Amino acid sequence: MTEAPDRTVACRSCGNYKLSVVLDLPRAPSSVERLLTDQQLESDTPVHLCVWRCGACGLAQLAAPMSDGFYDEYEMATSFSPRFNSYLASLATMFQDITGLRSGRLIEIGCGDGTFMDHLTRLGYQVTGIEPSRPFRRSATAKGHRVFASYIDQKTPAPDGPYDGFVLRQVLEHVHDFRGFLAGVRESVFDNAPGLVEVPNLDKALTDRRFYDFFPDHVNYFSGRTLRIVLESNGFDVDRVFPTMSDEYISAFVRKRAESDFSPTQASAAAFRRQVADFIDDQHRRGLRVAVWGSGGKGVAALAVAEPAGIEYVVDSDPRKYGLYLPASHFEVYPPEHIRLIPVDVVLVTALAHLGEIVSHLRGELAFEGRIAVLGEPIAFVD
Ligand SMILES: [Zn+2]
Repeated sequence: MTEAPDRTVACRSCGNYKLSVVLDLPRAPSSVERLLTDQQLESDTPVHLCVWRCGACGLAQLAAPMSDGFYDEYEMATSFSPRFNSYLASLATMFQDITGLRSGRLIEIGCGDGTFMDHLTRLGYQVTGIEPSRPFRRSATAKGHRVFASYIDQKTPAPDGPYDGFVLRQVLEHVHDFRGFLAGVRESVFDNAPGLVEVPNLDKALTDRRFYDFFPDHVNYFSGRTLRIVLESNGFDVDRVFPTMSDEYISAFVRKRAESDFSPTQASAAAFRRQVADFIDDQHRRGLRVAVWGSGGKGVAALAVAEPAGIEYVVDSDPRKYGLYLPASHFEVYPPEHIRLIPVDVVLVTALAHLGEIVSHLRGELAFEGRIAVLGEPIAFVD
């Protein structure tokens, strides 16, 4: 078993080259889903299964994807036990209680034969399914569900969306490119839409030492922690993650993150530049001279953007800065006493956190009688 990371294989979740083999099974079946006909026996051989773990994000994974179209005829045995059905009923109720979404349009991606859609429909949701497997699609459609045949990725969101919420049960462990897949899920629902993601529980497999829980059909193996990391790093806020179905599964209740909007801040930079220029022009028209107080981070950044012409000089109370220049705007920094040597009429304060101290320094020790203004939107006089 390899302990040192293999630097040639990248983690499919975080991209780091820190994968090490943590489980090595020289004799694994090529798939646990498809049994063989007697004609297929001769060509069937065991496969060498290596489970890798990423030293950075911790995700356990297989390196090779299943072949294209593998899921077209997929038909995993579905449990019809009363216990499993009551689990699904309780999961549907949990979805309603935890997400707070009481009704609306849901998309279940990988809906299988539509059993969970039955439970959701009973609670009052309008549910649409996505299912690449033909046999599963037939079963779900026969029960009256609307099901599309599709593989979801960033460019292929669920048809007829966006939806109010989504369900992803026992899917993510099969998906090699889950970043593209989860981007497609994001594209399929509204901002802040809730979702349920359920996967087999890696921790349970390890606790019970079940080597037979590892096979080529599952290319990702999630613990509660790695499922949270994957969802959080692919645009979903995770409300809750916990084991379900006697710890066999992990269920995560998530919400599509509405990414914060930078455009008002972008617009503010241009507006600020105009505002500072107008302010200084306005003072000059009145025959007033302007100095700036403050060469801290915010002041340096603001003056770099404003690029103001017509400022007399910059003062600061930090002696380590005297004789040095502000990056980008290139104003020299003087001590506050400079205001007495070369008087100005207006002092524009950029060190907002120290405004009180600066005002009393100006009015007290420096006996400054001009006006004091504060950087901001809009630039305002303090007196
Ligand atoms: Zn990783």
